[in-house]
Amino acid sequence: MPAQILDGKALAKKTEQELAQRVADLKARSNGQAPILATILVGDDPASATYVKMKGNACERIGMESLRIELPASTSTDELLAKIDELNNDPNVHGILLQHPVPEQIDERRCFDAISLEKDVDGVTCLGFGRMSMGEEAYGCATPKGIMRLLEAYDIELEGKHAVVVGRSAILGKPMAMMLLGANATVTICHSRTKNLPELVRQADIVVGAVGRPEFIKADWIKDGAVVVDAGYHPEKVGDIELEPLVDRVSAYTPVPGGVGPMTINTLIYQTVESGEKSIGQ
Ligand code: NAP
Repeated sequence: MPAQILDGKALAKKTEQELAQRVADLKARSNGQAPILATILVGDDPASATYVKMKGNACERIGMESLRIELPASTSTDELLAKIDELNNDPNVHGILLQHPVPEQIDERRCFDAISLEKDVDGVTCLGFGRMSMGEEAYGCATPKGIMRLLEAYDIELEGKHAVVVGRSAILGKPMAMMLLGANATVTICHSRTKNLPELVRQADIVVGAVGRPEFIKADWIKDGAVVVDAGYHPEKVGDIELEPLVDRVSAYTPVPGGVGPMTINTLIYQTVESGEKSIGQ
């Protein structure tokens, strides 16, 4: 039987319609005030500039505003912290996105952690990660939270399943593993020092590829009937998992492109709307 396609593009589009309605309702209740996402881009990396632009465009599509802040590549940690502090204290700003990566002279972790919990709609702070891991309220890190929303929308059962997450980065692998654990999956986290990776992946009911290498996870490592989630995206239009030979023997998979990618931006705006609803018109 052909596998179910976990279509992130379609889900993101459908959710945008719902979010547009929520923003319209919010404006109607508050003299036209819409949630505002502040995006901070430091330096002139073209890929980062494109991501920030896509995030701003997504805000516009649902009737929300974005405040675009562009800082020079020479910005210091203190200067960036001062800007974040200003945005934390601006009652008109409901979410703050600091585009990763920042130039290397900046202490990125310190800057992420300076974002106030209420405005951490991209889910990048240590405090937010800790709270999420403990099952407390916090905005989720956008990419893994987007994956969880996608799995939920397609009724993929997680409880009691063995999930193998390949990758342990702060923005993807680690929060992904904690979210799956929170959903009662049994989780194995793999990384560059893991021994016997193919054997571990073979045990997985759910595989998450978050490695950053094109088709690194081979199709023959994945068992029949597994659920395959591929967070990677590379210029040759493939992800981190060798997907093509799997489409007829796994139970569900995220296409590349059109699976995980659209859900990341969608989760960012989803969480900004939630933040706006909490503070506007209260
Ligand atoms: P990252 O920070 O480079 O982390 C890669 C992870 O893979 C690390 O934990 C690393 O292990 C592990 N790894 C590297 N080589 C390995 C090997 N030979 N065997 C096992 N594990 C290995 O990357 P990331 O930011 O998490 O991103 C991962 C992927 O997701 C990339 O393809 C990226 O483009 C994609 N991504 C997509 C979105 C989206 O919106 N769609 C967002 C973010 C990222 P160590 O920790 O031991 O070094």
